Amino acid sequence: MGTIDSLPPLRQVIADHQLSAKKSLGQNFLLDLNLTAKIARQAGDLAGCDVLEIGPGPGGLTRGLLAEGARRVLAIEKDARCLPALAEIAQAYPDRLEVINGDALEVDPLDHLTPPIRIAANLPYNVGTELLVRWLTPPQWPPFWDSLTLMFQKEVAERVVAKPGAKQYGRLAILSQWRADARIAMTLPPEAFTPPPKIHSAVVHLTALPEPRYPADPKILSRIVAAGFNQRRKMLRASLKGQAPDIEDRLIAAGIQPTDRAETVHLEQWCALARGLET
Ligand code: SAM
Repeated sequence: MGTIDSLPPLRQVIADHQLSAKKSLGQNFLLDLNLTAKIARQAGDLAGCDVLEIGPGPGGLTRGLLAEGARRVLAIEKDARCLPALAEIAQAYPDRLEVINGDALEVDPLDHLTPPIRIAANLPYNVGTELLVRWLTPPQWPPFWDSLTLMFQKEVAERVVAKPGAKQYGRLAILSQWRADARIAMTLPPEAFTPPPKIHSAVVHLTALPEPRYPADPKILSRIVAAGFNQRRKMLRASLKGQAPDIEDRLIAAGIQPTDRAETVHLEQWCALARGLET
């Protein structure tokens, strides 16, 4: 286990503060500080940035982000047992770490952050996708964040970066790739975590585009993509028939065959269809 700072090794932190992992909170901790520093580096140059971290736990990634030069880290952690360990980190990095004890689904972090803002997290599996969807669907674009560097189950990461024709291609791919560049930056085996989860994990890096890749109304796009993929085995003329009485004509105008299925339709075509349904 590497030493990237003067704080105790994470195994000792966990023992000292009796942080036995709770499954209900999705707790699979990263204890290798070289690895957490490597994950932090995937978030890019942090020097001039505030970083929002969800679920710092005993603070492995938090320490990586701070050691890699983040201007400030705002960490939101639900489990109050972790607070004393995080307070030690805050002391070692004066004025650079703020911790909020709360549920990331309920806390609004914006008052505590100054742009530019990056988000980095080893997300609790139970809320990871919901947070990603929220960050990808803000009231306005560009969003409050410049990039997202997020650990997911590998299967979720693959859904984020999937291309048409792949079985993982669906709503999450379209939502992610419409307004961001998305790539898998690293994959990690179960043994990288304590306790090891059953599945492999992957870090996804998303960079917000200044504007959407193709114009479309977000609500219409979301509605048709949901309708198309909810019945992904059906032809689009059937799965989208509730969207407009002349849906076949509108599909053709968007360059889509009415007999196509959602999983073969490219992002550009989905956006063209959304525009075609505006009137
Ligand atoms: N970042 C640490 C690491 O990499 O070792 C811990 C990651 S662990 C996968 C997920 C963390 O998220 C846990 O510390 C857990 O307590 C916390 N957590 C779970 N649900 C949460 C929620 N709704 N809001 C904030 N934190 C949450």
